[in-house]
Amino acid sequence: MTDHTRVLIVGSGPAGLTAAIYTARAQLRPIVIEGEPSSTSDQPGGQLMLTTDIENFPGFPEGITGPELMANMRAQAERFGADLRVNKVQRLDATERPFRAWLSGDDEPSITADAVILATGAQSLMMNVPGESRLLSHGLSTCATCDGFFFRGHDIAVIGGGDSAIEEATFLTRFASTVTVVHRRDALRASKIMQERAFANDKIRFAWNTQVLEVLGDSKVSGLRVADTVTGVERIMDVTGVFVAIGHVPNTALVHGQVDLHDNGYVRTGVGSFTNVDGLFAAGDVQDDQYRQAITSAGSGCVAAIDAERWLEAQGA
Ligand code: NAP
Repeated sequence: MTDHTRVLIVGSGPAGLTAAIYTARAQLRPIVIEGEPSSTSDQPGGQLMLTTDIENFPGFPEGITGPELMANMRAQAERFGADLRVNKVQRLDATERPFRAWLSGDDEPSITADAVILATGAQSLMMNVPGESRLLSHGLSTCATCDGFFFRGHDIAVIGGGDSAIEEATFLTRFASTVTVVHRRDALRASKIMQERAFANDKIRFAWNTQVLEVLGDSKVSGLRVADTVTGVERIMDVTGVFVAIGHVPNTALVHGQVDLHDNGYVRTGVGSFTNVDGLFAAGDVQDDQYRQAITSAGSGCVAAIDAERWLEAQGA
């Protein structure tokens, strides 16, 4: 049986759930397809399910854990009547309206929708080495802005050689005793100005031609096993924090070929959350390669909800 909804929200991170709260309060009875448990999290809820303490989300002076914050947002959306479903959109047809979404391989779509808010987020690229996923949130992080504060006085490593790695390394010197940028080549990819700033910072060191083989530690990071990419010689780096900054990929598989993307793969939004497809809105990290914060993502979910509500009203839908 196919359900019809005025607004289908795909994704249940801060963008999707904020869009759900707003559209539910506007009596649009949104259906939210939350996603499914993944290899890195036993519940949907986006990247915040992988973080421990969040101290910079306004309104929580004592901080809150990522999973708690997401549970609160979920409860708030449900309170206003959002229909939340733990499931995954397998296919989305955004070429004609109503839009059609399939949750299974059936011929018939599972859901048709007058408007869709795409809030499928992004993922940090990971090194895929032993110890990495086990120690994520236990000394290994993918976000310096989020977690840098917890590494006061630590010796830490930042993996990568692009702008993200150098920006994170520079930011982390506010807290850490030393920051070692571990890069697989002998030259950075980062912009010259950021390189120069990093070279001039006496807390930043560089491990050139160095590849990470393993993240070490039982319950917390205690070091890295690395290899010299030229000589092959292995050694242990004594660090108690690791920031992986080797890039992000937006989760756009559902809309490939159907909506305009930037060259780097992020959904192109114009004013607010409007995409080039009438009735398809994008919110959160799937369209943001710059800020990537829970609060900016939530704000963007609010924008998408208001855009969708006004657009539906203008359509008389
Ligand atoms: P990026 O430019 O793609 O750089 C990724 C870095 O990670 C590269 O140095 C790459 O090494 C390394 N890397 C990739 N896979 C790896 C692996 N498996 N193991 C070890 N190292 C690996 O990504 P980004 O730094 O996130 O930047 C993305 C975009 O955002 C860029 O256009 C950047 O300019 C922009 N950005 C701008 C700012 C700013 O202006 N403030 C800040 C952040 C990002 P190789 O160099 O050997 O390929």
